[in-house]
Formats: sequence, structure tokens, C-alpha cells
Amino acid sequence: MITLDAVRKIFKTKDGQVNAVDQVNLTIDQGEIFGIIGYSGAGKSTLIRMLNMLERPTSGSVTVAGQDLSKLSKSGLRKARQEISMIFQHFNLLWSRTVRENIAFPLEIAGVARAERLRRVDELIKLVGLEGRGESYPSQLSGGQKQRVGIARALANNPKVLLCDEATSALDPKTTDSILNLLVEINEKLGLTIVLITHEMHVIRKICHRVAVMENGRVVEQGPVLDVFRHPSEEITKDFVKQITEPEETTDVIKQLASEKPQNKIVQLTFVGGRAEQPIITEVIRKFNVQVNILQGKVSQTQNGAYGSLFIQLEGVDSEVSDAINYMNQQQVEVEVVSYE
Ligand code: ADP
Repeated sequence: MITLDAVRKIFKTKDGQVNAVDQVNLTIDQGEIFGIIGYSGAGKSTLIRMLNMLERPTSGSVTVAGQDLSKLSKSGLRKARQEISMIFQHFNLLWSRTVRENIAFPLEIAGVARAERLRRVDELIKLVGLEGRGESYPSQLSGGQKQRVGIARALANNPKVLLCDEATSALDPKTTDSILNLLVEINEKLGLTIVLITHEMHVIRKICHRVAVMENGRVVEQGPVLDVFRHPSEEITKDFVKQITEPEETTDVIKQLASEKPQNKIVQLTFVGGRAEQPIITEVIRKFNVQVNILQGKVSQTQNGAYGSLFIQLEGVDSEVSDAINYMNQQQVEVEVVSYE
């Protein structure tokens, strides 16, 4: 769907020049959720903005859906941009227009007839879960709702590619999760290719299939999320891996249970984890013939600390399964407590 071939972007500044993006080669497949992670100044924004020619590369080519964007005429580019839409960190909504009017805006520009616009807006409002908010103004919405409007507007013209420019960076962790879930739903339902940039490992781990790590304008490492983060070869990648052991990764209920030291409390667990861990979870479920993704056991030991741990003596599963689960724990697969008594 997207190919970048030796793409460079040099900005001329009064003190000389900045190589914002330096010889980047990438291929992104149709239907893929592709993440680009890097610290501030790494070149992520410049790179993603070249995917719809908001920035023109100094050299190299950007091909999207078979078209070399830098070779397109102005009108060709306008048309191509309908297929490559974007959502933003600060939503970029039209503040004097209602939710419905915001979503209808790209349809108006594309000359879609009124009846069809109304129908399409209804459909999009439903898709992003904003029923009942159509007549609200952006200022009356929460951050998560604003981003839902941004997503609906970006999908209005049935794009092939959705670019997400730090789309969850202004949101709290819970809202971030709900927006990421929505992106996965859209990716699966519509087969949309999604490219996102972020400085947050959590975002990559939760929804991306593949990742590229950027530093100083270059892609220093790329591949399937699990491979890259299990076997990082670059220092910067190792740094990002460390982010996932941060306290906020632990669900509040595990933290609370760990501090209560609830010996013999019965808990039910489910593996959540991100997209990247799904293969391990599926593998464990299949290999050990655990019928559902919910296990029950007694708390045998707790560990309090920056992030709490519970050791669970599982009921009705043999030691092999316990071993597998221990292995998953070492891999920091997230576990969620379904219920406890
Ligand atoms: P990131 O999104 O990873 O934070 P950016 O792509 O915004 O990185 O920036 C990469 C580098 O390019 C930085 O050094 C930044 O200062 C520089 N840069 C970005 N845009 C411009 C611009 N319009 N003019 C000059 N320098 C720029």
C-alpha cells in the first residue's frame, strides 16, 4: 500500500540545515497497522507528513496505492489526499461547527449530494460511537469524543489509508485505550491501512502489527512488534522496552489486591495484552487445551511495589499450563482480573 524509497527531508534553517528524515526505506502492507516510534525530534512528524505530501521529500519517492505522490499534479494530489486521511493530536476540529457538520465537511468539499451526506454522517456517527452527540459543538465534548469526531471525519470519504499523528498523546490512559480499540475495530471492519506515529510504547504494543524505530531521522530498526521488542538490537529500542514495565501498565485492581495481601482469595484472570501478544495467548490456549481465555485460582502470594504482582495457584490446570503462564508473565503479558471473591 505504501512504499518509501530512499526518502530524505532536509530543512534549511538560518544556522544551516537539518536532516529531519534521512534515507528512509519502508514498505507498509494493505490492511496493516504500522507504528513508528521515536523520541521528540526523531523525524516522525516529518515522515508521516510526507505520506500525504503535507511535506515534500527533498529526494526519494513516496508511493501510495500505486501512485508516486511527488509526481502528481495539484488536482491529482487533491484526489489522492481523499484516499489518505489524517487524525491529529489536538484533533483540528472546526470549532464553530457541530459534530455532524465537522464530519460532513470533507463530503461537502468532495461535492457529495446532501441526501447522501446525511446518510453517510449517520453511518459514521454510529461507527465511532457518537450517537446522540451529533448536534453538540466540539467544546462540549470530552477529549476522547473529540478524537472520535476526528476519526469519523477522516473516514468520511472512504480512505484507503489513515495516518495518525500522535492521535492519543493528549488523552488520558483509559481514553487512549478506547480510541486504540476503535482504531483496531475500524482496521478490521474496513480493512483500512493505518500508520501511526507515537513516542509511547504502550500504543505500539497494543495495536500495531509492525513497528519502525526512528532516531536522528533514520529508521534504526523495524519488523514485527514482538520480534523487535523481544530482541532489540539498538539501545534506543531497549529504552522503549523499559517503558512497558512502568507502574501505570498494571491494572488498578491487581495493585489493590497486591497491597491487601489477600491470601487464598479466589480470582479469575483473563489475558488481555496487546495485538503483539495475541499469538502467544492463542498458542497457549491451543497447545494446553484451555477452553476459554479465563482461568481461576487462589492467590498464593503477593508482591507489593511499584507495580503489584499476584501469584496465582491455578485450579483445574496442570503444571504445564502454569509453566506457560509463568513464561507469559516473564514476557509481561498483561493479565486482567475478571472477578474475585
Ligand atoms: P518528531 O515528530 O519525531 O518529534 P520532527 O519530524 O518534528 O520530529 O522533527 C525532526 C527534526 O526536523 C527536528 O530537528 C526538527 O527541529 C526539524 N524540523 C521539523 N520541521 C521543521 C521545519 N519546518 N523547519 C526546520 N526544521 C524542522
